[in-house]
Amino acid sequence: MPDYEPHEKYQSVLLFGAPGAGKGTQGAILGRIPGFFHLSCGEVFRSLDIHSELGQTFYEYSSKGELVPDDVTVTMWVRNVAAQTTLSLFKPHDDLLILDGIPRNVEQAKLMDEHVNVLGVIHLVCPDKEAMIKRLTRRALKENRVDDAKENVIRNRWRVYEQETAPVLEHYSSSIIHEVDAVGSPASVLQHVLEVVVPIQDSHFNNPISGEPTGPDA
Ligand code: AMP
Repeated sequence: MPDYEPHEKYQSVLLFGAPGAGKGTQGAILGRIPGFFHLSCGEVFRSLDIHSELGQTFYEYSSKGELVPDDVTVTMWVRNVAAQTTLSLFKPHDDLLILDGIPRNVEQAKLMDEHVNVLGVIHLVCPDKEAMIKRLTRRALKENRVDDAKENVIRNRWRVYEQETAPVLEHYSSSIIHEVDAVGSPASVLQHVLEVVVPIQDSHFNNPISGEPTGPDA
């Protein structure tokens, strides 16, 4: 059994940005580095059985580019992170939790405050909305994503981002918000992301000695 008390808050960094900004790409890379645990809310939703009640709810909202209701989303997220902890995939005393795709509105941010201690927010800034929309359309073809298959759905996702998600930035102190240019190769964006997250990790965790095995596939 993990020795983690459920009432302790998870030390976290939030990957933040509009649809197509590259949160998932950066999160996936960080998640491969010992000492970081990446959890994408959208991926948790996509992994649900489409025939389950929650799977149906997800399909109903995501196919229109809408957000799944807050209570359902946060409850699912809390259960998922607890399960990952029980399985020792996520070790809250050793790993910085990389939040991706949650919180998506101010209400979720308030609900999440009970569970996470947000040490930093990485705001992936993409000035060219049309370029991002093209990127999402290409990705939808490759990944078979219903939410990005139609341009009107992508545009709705952007509208939801601008109206509901962008205000989440005001929920956190400006001193922990770091703007990173999302335009560029994944490696160059990663370089800037690491400049933010490495000092946070260093100041909150005793890192394992370099080269020491740390994970199941280490
Ligand atoms: P993403 O992969 O993060 O772009 O999420 C894909 C879809 O999953 C979104 O368009 C929403 O329908 C749903 N979703 C993901 N995260 C959340 C969240 N935090 N709150 C509500 N809906 C979400």
